[in-house]
Amino acid sequence: MRALRLPNWKSEPELVEVPRPEPGPGQVVIKVGGAGACHSDLHLMHDFEAGSVPWNPPFTLGHENAGWVHALGAGVTGLTEGQPVAVYGPWGCGSCARCRVGVDTYCENPAAAPVPGGGGGLGLDGGMAEYLLVPDARHLVPLPEGLDPVAAAPLTDAGLTPYHAVRRSLPKLLPDSTALVIGVGGLGHVGVQILKATTAARVIAVDTRDDALALARQYGADLTLRPDSDAAERIRAATGGRGADVVLDFVGADATLKLGVSVARTLGDLTIVGLGGGTLPVSFFGVPYEVSIQTVYWGSRPELIEVLDLGARGLIKPKITTFGLDQAVDAYHQLRDGTLEGRAVIVP
Ligand code: NAD
Ligand code: ZN
Ligand code: ZN
Repeated sequence: MRALRLPNWKSEPELVEVPRPEPGPGQVVIKVGGAGACHSDLHLMHDFEAGSVPWNPPFTLGHENAGWVHALGAGVTGLTEGQPVAVYGPWGCGSCARCRVGVDTYCENPAAAPVPGGGGGLGLDGGMAEYLLVPDARHLVPLPEGLDPVAAAPLTDAGLTPYHAVRRSLPKLLPDSTALVIGVGGLGHVGVQILKATTAARVIAVDTRDDALALARQYGADLTLRPDSDAAERIRAATGGRGADVVLDFVGADATLKLGVSVARTLGDLTIVGLGGGTLPVSFFGVPYEVSIQTVYWGSRPELIEVLDLGARGLIKPKITTFGLDQAVDAYHQLRDGTLEGRAVIVP
């Protein structure tokens, strides 16, 4: 079968022929219906090197996957061939206290996981191929009625990651509050929709690209602005001087972290999602009082079920551009160049 593989660090991916996987006991092979192209893959290609993450190329890209059950390994029950499924992407050990409640992202026994801290497309072979080996049937979530694999694929990361970030800050997203979304790309444009669908917070969106700001407005953002020198002042003015209760930074660069902390409201949250390589100095007078600052990684399996439900009910709907496997490199180039809106999904 054909697969888009990352051959090495600091490399472009290559479309090559690889053997079709066979499921071992407890495993499932899915026929891939859609595999999203995430900006994290660009970090894998251009920014990371040995030691940046606990795994190494070569492996097939694609950590945002959905498809149809193709072949069941011995002992797998509860799934049928041809059934549409989404793949929960982080693959932990399955038996530690975190994995048992579906929080494989923070597996406490990574040495016993199929790959430490990753999954298909992140250390192991991912979904940018005709077939994907899923090492444990528990990672498959049946698609609810109304959601096909192309629509579901981005929900497994571009949906799940902002959903988790929003959900952990829900107590601060009261009706008179403001959420600031920085970076309205694949994740951020779904983040705006999740905020609108699940909270009554006012949403302000910031991006360097006018297209992205237009997309944010289309999905209900109340105010959109470029990160110009007056951005912080405008955000303060729009919030009656209080600032943003919750800042979701989907970029994570020095400039966005600086903007985020400068407009965070006291007692607020500043959540860093983007791997932009920025640093945020924290000091007594440098950060508003009682602002909680955290990084987040992906989301939990129960949260994926909730995100798929939101998608199936039409409450969130990622903007998708589809590409064939032979166009996947071009999709990544468009993502890198900032000419894509929403999410690119590879349909093998
Ligand atoms: P994307 O390229 O689709 O979107 C990024 C958006 O940020 C673009 O719209 C871009 O114009 C905008 N942007 C870039 N620089 C900006 C700046 N200085 N100010 C304002 N806006 C700016 O990327 P994506 O796939 O949505 O991923 C976003 C980030 O999140 C990446 O760093 C990715 O690696 C990371 N990510 C993290 C997790 C996690 O679990 N923490 C999961 C998935 C992706
Ligand atoms: Zn991702
Ligand atoms: Zn575990």
